[in-house]
Amino acid sequence: MAKINGFKGDYTGLSDEEVAKLQLKYGKNDLVPQKRNTLLSRILTIFKEPMILLLFGTALIYFLLGEYRDGIIMLIFVMFVTSISFFQEWKTDRTLNLLKNLTSPKVKVIRNGHLVTIDSRELTVGDLMLLEEGDKVPADGQIIEMHDLGIDESALTGESEICWKKVEITPEENNEYWKKNCCYAGTTVISGTAIVKVTAIGLNTEYGKIGVDVNSAPEYLTPLEKQTRKLIIISLYISICLFVVVFLVTFIHQKNLIDGILSGITITMAIIPEEFPVVLTVFLAMGAWRLAKRNALIRRIPAIETLGAISVLCVDKTGTLTKNQMEVRHTYVFNDHSERELINYAVLACEEESYDPMEKAIKEYGEKNGLDVKSIYSKKLIHEYPFSSDLKMMGHVWEIDGKPVLTAKGSPESILPLCHLDDKELNDVKDRQFKMASNGYRVIAVAKNDNMSIIPKNITETKMDLIGLIGLADPPKEAVPDAIDICNEAGIRIVLITGDNGITAQAIAEEIGIKNYNNVITGQELDKISEEDLRNRVKKTNIFARVTPRHKMRIVKAFKENGEVVAMTGDGVNDAPALKYADIGIAMGKRGTGVAKDAADMVLLDDNFTTIVDTIRDGRRIYDNIKKAFGYIIAIHIPIALTAILTPLLHLPLLLLPVHVVLLELIIDPTCSIVFEREPAEDKIMKRNPRPQSDPLISVNLGVKSILQGVAIFTATFVSYLYMINNGFPQNMGRSFSLTVIVLANLLLVYINGSETDNMFKVMFKQKDKAVWYVNIGVFLGLLAILYIPSLNDIVKTAPLNLFNFLKAAIIAFLSTAWWELVKLYNKNKLSLKQI
Ligand code: ADP
Ligand code: MG
Repeated sequence: MAKINGFKGDYTGLSDEEVAKLQLKYGKNDLVPQKRNTLLSRILTIFKEPMILLLFGTALIYFLLGEYRDGIIMLIFVMFVTSISFFQEWKTDRTLNLLKNLTSPKVKVIRNGHLVTIDSRELTVGDLMLLEEGDKVPADGQIIEMHDLGIDESALTGESEICWKKVEITPEENNEYWKKNCCYAGTTVISGTAIVKVTAIGLNTEYGKIGVDVNSAPEYLTPLEKQTRKLIIISLYISICLFVVVFLVTFIHQKNLIDGILSGITITMAIIPEEFPVVLTVFLAMGAWRLAKRNALIRRIPAIETLGAISVLCVDKTGTLTKNQMEVRHTYVFNDHSERELINYAVLACEEESYDPMEKAIKEYGEKNGLDVKSIYSKKLIHEYPFSSDLKMMGHVWEIDGKPVLTAKGSPESILPLCHLDDKELNDVKDRQFKMASNGYRVIAVAKNDNMSIIPKNITETKMDLIGLIGLADPPKEAVPDAIDICNEAGIRIVLITGDNGITAQAIAEEIGIKNYNNVITGQELDKISEEDLRNRVKKTNIFARVTPRHKMRIVKAFKENGEVVAMTGDGVNDAPALKYADIGIAMGKRGTGVAKDAADMVLLDDNFTTIVDTIRDGRRIYDNIKKAFGYIIAIHIPIALTAILTPLLHLPLLLLPVHVVLLELIIDPTCSIVFEREPAEDKIMKRNPRPQSDPLISVNLGVKSILQGVAIFTATFVSYLYMINNGFPQNMGRSFSLTVIVLANLLLVYINGSETDNMFKVMFKQKDKAVWYVNIGVFLGLLAILYIPSLNDIVKTAPLNLFNFLKAAIIAFLSTAWWELVKLYNKNKLSLKQI
């Protein structure tokens, strides 16, 4: 039997056997109908790919021609290529599913007499769940026991007022549709806690019955997907035009329908860049997976492409930048009160069971000074004024010597106005506060009222006597200053958001290296200035002090309207709108509420600022690699496409047949999805500014580079082929030579384009990933196989090259690609000159 903190009852909950039985009966708790990808639907989608259709078409033509052997070879290739796509898709799917499980919502339940955390999906009817502030209710249920449970049911009922729940309801209330003693899936716990017995799960909940997922965003294409789609459509048009031209020319000249169609198909296959979407899905899925291993869970995959573009990073101070381990460093006793009184009242203004590091620090300090903290709470608690980030104070009314006594603590800005100090006193206290805050301390005012006639509803309506101030230090995490340095260099602005006082915030900001720490905007100012003013002021302001979560939305908005890409951290229920609105909303995994996690694009498992910076670095790396892969795809398609077009147009014996294009595709695919995906980050990746949002995926520079490289490889291949066939070598020999040039050039290109600054040898030795070496060695061995295994010679129409010719081909491949190293060298010098 489990006793849950703060609850009266003893609970056992369901046993494992009962759960197994109930789940068999009711299924899993899926609030939205699950989309199932059947094997058949997957196979069908693969057969929608133009490449596969082309391969089938080719096989069919061979069969019609009576060339059964070629037809069968084509079919074998089709199977090979499909199984590769299939495997790749399966692996991507699996990665995404694992990720989904990691980010899936969790719920606390009592089972087998213990409180455990499980996936909300595993919840079943009869389970006892523990709901807490900030939780998203995962199923319908009846309340067994509760404290101040307030629920936002607007998602379900449209009612915007908080619904205050009860355990017992009147018969009239029982006639209402939405019952006061029940909780409903899809709603949000705004305050309080409760133990709730699940009555309906999944599609049987009220939420499930509505049948729509109110939360799921409509599926839209991300900027990258849009750009990719455009590229593919352009290439499709080009290939159709060329198909027609080549077909007509071949047909008219050679009067050969079949040859015409075959060369047309070869060209289409050579041009369609079907690798683009593959690169996109694989890189993003793998990227998300790698980030998950480093404590950053991506909840929305496309967020990865935005990560690298972040230009403003808004972070909460407490707990993200600082350790959230407070310590009392300084006290100030007002008038004729004593230090002992100060601590005593401060402790009385704390919760008996403290989770807040600040309260823990106050109690620790009390104990160090000889106070018996436990016995202080033996008094009777008459009333509580809970802490809210709006009021920034809290209070307790105790019965002391038969009289009600208010003890309160909170920010001096909120407590002092209630204390009726004269000007001199006020100046004195403020002076003290200023001194403490300049050290980066959080300053808390402590006050009491032992002369209460009534207990007012709001704490702000009470009068108080100031007892003193307490200064608490919350030192920054050790790694933070370095991480901020990195951001400063990377052109990412760090914006500090805190409920603390501006002076405290400035002192911390200075300590950790945030720029422009002299400019502060406070929550009060925020309430007064216009949107336009704010937009201007945020250009130079990096500190927002005394703000409440609802201010965050305006801050994000101002930055976004200035064209920045904004990331914002948050953990509370009130943070959810800002997290949703930010380009990247980051929720804290440890401190964060379910609602904040639900609204976020990314969940930080370790609540650590340095992890955010790592993620940005990785986001930049992934984006870089997508660009590198796209550049490579373009470069390597050019020689294939041009030879496929020119040989029939010039009435030369065909160099590339469909089977060769397929073979080359077999090299290009893994090179993209394995080699470029694993390319390590450029050394200077965090020394350049974030890319502008409008940056096209394929910039003019990248386009020109790829075309030049492609044309160079084409020239080498084609000229070699011409030379060979004009000098009496058999066609198959010429083809072998040219294929060797293309394949080796392809291998070299991987290293040459692996970095924009490092030379190819450095890239080669920097790459420690075994998988990359396997792919490259595999490609090389594959080349040797089609050159030197006689049966393969037969199938792919090649002939063995002698050592001399092989070396000649290797040198030509090297020359046709390695010249780019000179361009890199030139660019590097130009850059370093600029820096001087
Ligand atoms: P932050 O976002 O920096 O954690 P909070 O909203 O938690 O800010 O706190 C803002 C201010 O409210 C603090 O500077 C402090 O003055 C006051 N405060 C915070 N927690 C408590 C508490 N438990 N009791 C009294 N005052 C508090
Ligand atoms: Mg706080």
